[in-house]
Amino acid sequence: MNSKVKQAQKEGATVEDISAGLSYSVIKNALFKVIKLKDSKDIGNKVVVQGGTFYNDAVLRAFEKITGLEVVRPDISGIMGAFGAALIAKDNYQAGEKSKVLNKDEIINLTYTNEIKRCKLCTNNCLLTLTKINNKTVVTGNRCERGAGIEITKEKLPNLYEYKYNKLFSYKPIDDTEAIRGSVGIPRVLNIYEDYPFWFTFFTELKFKVILSDTSTRRLYELGMDTIPSDTVCYPAKIVHGHIVNLINKGANFIFIHLCPMKKLNLAMPIIITTVLL
Ligand code: SF4
Repeated sequence: MNSKVKQAQKEGATVEDISAGLSYSVIKNALFKVIKLKDSKDIGNKVVVQGGTFYNDAVLRAFEKITGLEVVRPDISGIMGAFGAALIAKDNYQAGEKSKVLNKDEIINLTYTNEIKRCKLCTNNCLLTLTKINNKTVVTGNRCERGAGIEITKEKLPNLYEYKYNKLFSYKPIDDTEAIRGSVGIPRVLNIYEDYPFWFTFFTELKFKVILSDTSTRRLYELGMDTIPSDTVCYPAKIVHGHIVNLINKGANFIFIHLCPMKKLNLAMPIIITTVLL
């Protein structure tokens, strides 16, 4: 974004236009990349926005322009999260509980000291502010937990990447006697990391035995190197070739690859896919 703004400045765009462009991009990013709407109309007819970003009138207006709706912005949009948390706390309150929030007198008599120092635990050297309030020290300015002196207990955290990977690729294909339509090879690449359960079930229901290529390795990448027609394609695209060769070696009758979001590959892939199909 930063370099695009500089480019626009060089091309003589006005500050107003650049600011408007940024406001549009904030909303487009939220609607179409984060929420993943296909059409801005899918958002519904009544929209309430919240978050500090919407204190910015231009961002609010960009939202209205893009969705074609009149959007409601509460005057507390920036603190609605806190407001919600307060309501939940109120609902969960049990009689007899004493709030730890300081009362008026305690706030008036509150004393604190500030100390500025650098965290030396890594090369970021974050500038920390240590605020001591009633013998309790609060650290701010740290970019990670270590700067606040919080121990990271790696052992207790589940490895969600590993969990997802194992879950995704643990489907058992049908055996040769059941697979009356033969076998289909699916390369373990790109959007297959999201879509594999769908395609596996699709082909299995059609009585194909699904053969999955091996896990990506340097050796697997090198397998397909001599079939890559251009050196300018990205690494994820290049490694697809290795997976295709791997599936040929495994004897798949044909190879299925679903590449719609990766337009870049369309130039490189038909060559190898045609070879496989022949
Ligand atoms: S707070 Fe974290 S990121 Fe910052 S210097 Fe310390 S260890 Fe590094």
